[in-house]
Amino acid sequence: MKYMDLAVKIARGSDPSNKHFLLGCVGKRSDGALVVSTNIRTQHPMPSAHSEARNLKKCGFGATLWVARIDRLGNICLAKPCEWCQALCKNKRVKRIHYTISATEYGVMDF
Ligand SMILES: [Zn+2]
Repeated sequence: MKYMDLAVKIARGSDPSNKHFLLGCVGKRSDGALVVSTNIRTQHPMPSAHSEARNLKKCGFGATLWVARIDRLGNICLAKPCEWCQALCKNKRVKRIHYTISATEYGVMDF
C-alpha cells in the first residue's frame, strides 16, 4: 500500500526528540492532493497536536487518511486514532482512515 509506506516513512523522519513514539499521517484530499503531517511533541495530552488533527487542518472535508506509528525501537505498531480524532474525522467527513496495527497488519475505519 503506497500511501501507508509513505506514512511509515514520514513517521520515521519525524522529530527524533520525540522519544516515546513517532507518528506519520498522509491525507488525500477530495481533490486528490496529498498532505503529510507528523505529531508534535508536547508536555500536555493535547489532541490538536495529533498528526491526524494537524493533517485535517490542511485537508479540509472528505479526505482519506493513512496513519502510521513507530515505537521507540523502530517497530511499526498500533496507530488507531483516539476518540477525539475520530470525532474530528466525523466532523470533517473523512471517508476512511487506514492505520497500522503491526508491520504486517493494517486496520481500516470508515465514517
Ligand atoms: Zn488523536
